[in-house]
Amino acid sequence: MKLYSTNNPEQLVDFKTAVFNSMPLDKGLYMPAEIPVLSPDFLEHIEQYSLPEIAFKVATALIGDAMPAAALKAIIDDAISFDAPLKKLDQHTQVLELFHGPSLAFKDFGARFMSRVMSYFLQEGEQLLDVLVATSGDTGGAVALGFLGVPNTRVTILYPKGKVSAIQELQLCTNGQNIQVLEVEGTFDDCQQLVKEAFADTELNAKLRLTSANSINIARLIPQTFYYFNAWAQLRRQGVERMVVAVPSGNFGNIAAGLLAQRMGLPVAQFIAATNANDTVPRFLETGVYETRKSVQTYANAMDVGAPSNWVRIMELFKGDASALKQVLKGYRFTDEETIAAIKELYARHGYIACPHTAIAWLATQAYQAEHQDSDSKGYNSDDSKAVCLFLSTAHPCKFPDALPAEIASKVIVPEVVEALKHKQRQSTSMSVNYPLFKAYLLKRPNEV
Ligand SMILES: *Cc1c(COP(=O)(O)O)cnc(C)c1O
Repeated sequence: MKLYSTNNPEQLVDFKTAVFNSMPLDKGLYMPAEIPVLSPDFLEHIEQYSLPEIAFKVATALIGDAMPAAALKAIIDDAISFDAPLKKLDQHTQVLELFHGPSLAFKDFGARFMSRVMSYFLQEGEQLLDVLVATSGDTGGAVALGFLGVPNTRVTILYPKGKVSAIQELQLCTNGQNIQVLEVEGTFDDCQQLVKEAFADTELNAKLRLTSANSINIARLIPQTFYYFNAWAQLRRQGVERMVVAVPSGNFGNIAAGLLAQRMGLPVAQFIAATNANDTVPRFLETGVYETRKSVQTYANAMDVGAPSNWVRIMELFKGDASALKQVLKGYRFTDEETIAAIKELYARHGYIACPHTAIAWLATQAYQAEHQDSDSKGYNSDDSKAVCLFLSTAHPCKFPDALPAEIASKVIVPEVVEALKHKQRQSTSMSVNYPLFKAYLLKRPNEV
């Protein structure tokens, strides 16, 4: 696999370079120079394959030349070791649950795959890899649990004090081993700023081998294509013929992976980007003007993003052709009030408890279905018994208790793995928003774990 930078299509790098750089020096994003299309034979018989088998097929097509097949298979079997089941709400609506991994969020797919790919490429005797990550909650947990115990790596997580949920905090602070946690007396933006300064600090970079684990890394994007194909396999087993997919979106990495899967041959009739009040993309789809804004805080806080970092990739897939993009992608936005009402309605109608992000995606399928009652133009038609709207559930509801009405929150069954964390020793270091202090902290640690 060769990748180019969206800011410099001439400059090709290999997969390993793209993984360790995360972002090209020209500040573009890495994109595959060629997007392979999976064989019609595989796609027509996809229902015969398991998730790890599908993952291996898809990964082989994309990055099969970057490592031996046995190594790739071992990475997949180790990283993609949990299910992504569908739950049927009604004849035309199903939810794809992506929260059955260790951090209970879809980010486990990306973080676990990326950590193992990095570890594979770290050769014997190479310098310790220092992963720095700022988190508003979900990314940190997935990265911590993804890298936990991965040889020759050390993770430093910065999170804003008092601004992550109790379960998120437990997932960050109870790991030990090669995971170190800084509780920053500031906001998420402050955390991100400290990390950015570290990456720009030449002296620091001469001493430490720093890398970022954020959602623009191509090794996080690739494994997110797996579950779209696997969802289609599950629907085919049910005899479904057409699918529409709604994705709760913040940085637009998840939906970018879906669009990549579509390019690889996955038949998706329509993608729906569902956002909270941070509606840069829905506004663009309506007005044609792409205008980023400062993010505003919502209950679906993993989607509080005013300038989606993966948007460039999506425009690149469509070579900047907004009208072609609009054929494939619709956008809807919802307020906090609508989100809470949706959580209640999902529970009342289907007995289903959704996290706020998931509830927003469900609202988008509802809106889409309401608009497509009679038309059969775009893949979904309520008269068509073989069409399904799928919405992605990106996190377990127990991670966002503050967004759940009390009577519903009390019904959430907290998975045992999380209950067990409550008895573990917690470790974190307080840090003020002060770059020299942060730098000193990074430098005073021994260069090994
Ligand atoms: C990260 C996250 C999202 C947003 O995903 P993007 O790939 O950034 O669009 C949605 N829901 C949850 C629960 C998340 O953690």
